This record gives sequence, structure tokens and C-alpha cells, in this order.
Amino acid sequence: MDGHTRPLSVDEALRCVLEQTAAAPAEALPLASALGLTLAEDVVSDVDSPPYDKAMMDGYAVRGADLLDGRGDLEVVQEITAGRVPTLPVGPGQAARIMTGAPLPDGADAVVMVERTRLLEDGRVRVEGSPTRAGQHILKRGAELRAGETVLTAGVRLRPQDVGLLAAVGRDPVAAVPPPHVSLLATGDELVEPGVRPAAGQIRNSNGPMLLAQTRRGGGVPRYLGIAADHEDSLRPLIEQGLRTPVLLLSGGVSAGKLDLVPGVLAGLGVRTHFHKVHMKPGKPLFFGSVRTAGGTTLVFGLPGNPVSSFVCFELFVRPALRRLRGLADAGPPVRRAALAEDFGHASDRPTYHPALLEEADGWKVRPVPWFGSPDLRGLGRANALAVLPPGDGGFRAGQVLSVIPLEEG
Ligand code: AMP
Ligand code: MG
Repeated sequence: MDGHTRPLSVDEALRCVLEQTAAAPAEALPLASALGLTLAEDVVSDVDSPPYDKAMMDGYAVRGADLLDGRGDLEVVQEITAGRVPTLPVGPGQAARIMTGAPLPDGADAVVMVERTRLLEDGRVRVEGSPTRAGQHILKRGAELRAGETVLTAGVRLRPQDVGLLAAVGRDPVAAVPPPHVSLLATGDELVEPGVRPAAGQIRNSNGPMLLAQTRRGGGVPRYLGIAADHEDSLRPLIEQGLRTPVLLLSGGVSAGKLDLVPGVLAGLGVRTHFHKVHMKPGKPLFFGSVRTAGGTTLVFGLPGNPVSSFVCFELFVRPALRRLRGLADAGPPVRRAALAEDFGHASDRPTYHPALLEEADGWKVRPVPWFGSPDLRGLGRANALAVLPPGDGGFRAGQVLSVIPLEEG
């Protein structure tokens, strides 16, 4: 094994993960599935928008000079709906019925909203109300953007409004970084799926659904491989399947127990160990390795089986790796500074990522929640953040400023 003998610090381990992780190559992808992806090209508009002087109201296209005092009776010469092209100019004393989005006819320089008009019995339209100024309720051709203008630059993470803009300038498909596929394998003889009532000695596989959810929220496309027994014959074929995606997450089987077989099976399949163990709590047994495959490199994370350990290791190491694979410049994790809301007794020889509540009340305040350690998902459920407690044997005083990792909501 070419891994380190001394546990790495969290920073060293994250640096090591990111060193092994490169953005996936861009592909031409359908716009309909581009949300959240990283744009991989500078996008230049191929059209003026709007492409013509455009009515912004339902009403009448008029010549402002005909209505200087805000009133007048005009002859209606045509009707223009969106998608139609005007066939006649508007001459002096004339108007055209026009709908929102339709192109303005020649001669007209303003739109009067329909609410300010009344049709007369002779077919003319009477305009009443305030004076009409040139340009009123018209969006000029090219006002939003001009053909040849750059509207989005490579590297942005696409939001719904960006997707709309890409559609407006004809970018479908669009060059973007595809989301990474992530295989997930839970390991442990004691595990049953959540729909099953555990028999004596069994527990439910809570990590499977939780890690799938974290993967999805981290922008990955999860592929669940089920539960492997703590036996090489069960682990090996499932791990082999998982190595076919750019990321493989394993839960359990990486500690020092008799049946913690995962690192050995991985080594047998050619996975190179980058580190095994990190100086942190929870999550110390974390394993990270990689292997070159036909499709590129596969990153392998062996997450410790205790649910909060798995969760924390995902947030600290897997999520940043996914962000890097997705081509995002900032891998994270996000860190904020917050003052401890109250005294907190805590002793540990390792930095502890303690479930906590982060709240904004006269500056950012952090309050650790009651928590029984790495198996305690219930405690984690009360938290919206992880407070980073430095090692020490005493405790912490109210007001002391700590690093805090906010957990994404929803
Ligand atoms: P391990 O890392 O396999 O030694 O497991 C450590 C602890 O986590 C044990 O108590 C396991 O029963 C528990 N555990 C392992 N895998 C899971 C899982 N998928 N869901 C919930 N608990 C688990
Ligand atoms: Mg186990």
C-alpha cells in the first residue's frame, strides 16, 4: 500500500482529493437538462433581441404627433398579432390594432394601451387620456441584446434564467460539463433495506438513501448498487461494477474490524490508496483511492459506516470532488466564521465536526446541538451546520469564534 501511515489532516486530505480530480470534458448537451451544469463556451447571440421594434402592450400603434393633447379619433387600418408581420404603414390620422409582442408597423412611433381607447360606431378608434410620447410602450430592436454580443461566459453555473437566455440565442444543444455519475455500494452483513423490519442483530441501511440524496444534491447522477455482504465474493463483483463510473462511494467496511474487507478488495482490483484515515471526528477511517479505467479515472471513497461519519465525509470530501468534476471553480466546502452562542464543554484529541445550529442574530452565532456521536443521525437532523471544534481537553467559551460549515437546506 502506498498510502500514508500518519492520518492526514482534513486540509491535507481535501488537497489530496482535489489533486486527483479534474473537470470532466465538456459535451454538447440538450438545454432541457442543462440546469446546474457548468457552461463550457462563451455564448454569443446570433440575433438582435427583440428582433424588431416590439409592442409592450395590447392596444393601438399610433403616430404620437396625432395625439399631442392626448386625444384624437383615428382610422384603424390593420390588426397585427404576435407572429404576424405588418402589411401597411400607419399614416397621419391612422392607427393599427396591435397585440403585445407584435412588430410595430412603419410610421407608428408609440403604442396606446387598449384601456385608454374606445371603438366608435364608424369603426374609428377614440384615444382619450394623457399625452402620448414617442417610444411609449415600445421596446426598440436590439434593446436587450445585439447579434454578436457575448451573453454568457464559460464557467458559469447555469440557472433557470440562463437557460432561458441560451434558448433565446439559439444555443440548444449547449456545450456544458456533464454531471458525474456516482455508484454507491453499502456494505455490511447486518444491513437490511429501509422497507424491511430488522431482525435480531440487523439494522436498516440508512446510509444508502442518505448518500444517494447527498449525491443528487451535490450535482451527481447516482447509481445504487445495493448492499454487499462482508465477504470478498459479494464485494468484488459489485465493486467492479462501481468502478465503471467516475466516482464510487462505498459505505462501511473501512475500519479496523475483522470484517472490514473493503481496502483489501479495492487493492486487489488495482485501486491505488491515496490515504486511509483522516485526523478528524467523526470520519477517521475514511479511505480514498483511485484507479485508471477504460473510461478515465475512477475516484473511490470508502466512507465509514456510522451514518454521521458517512454524512460528514461526504460533505467535506465527496461534495468538493463532485464540484470539481462538474467544472466549478470553487470546490468548497463553504466555511463561515461564527461566535459560539453559549459555553460548550467538549474534549477530543481530534478536530470535531459537531452538528450545530447556525443562526443570524446580531452577527452569526453557532450553537452545538445535543449529539451522541457518529451513529446519532437524530442529532444531526436537528442541525443546519457543522461546527469545527479544535482538539483540546477543556471546552469552549461563549463568544469564541469558530469555523462553521453550513449545510445546504432543502
Ligand atoms: P463499519 O464502518 O462497517 O465498521 O460500520 C460502522 C458502524 O456503522 C456499524 O455499527 C454499522 O452497523 C454501521 N453501519 C454500517 N453501514 C451502515 C449503513 N449503510 N447504514 C447505517 N449504519 C451502517
Ligand atoms: Mg461493516
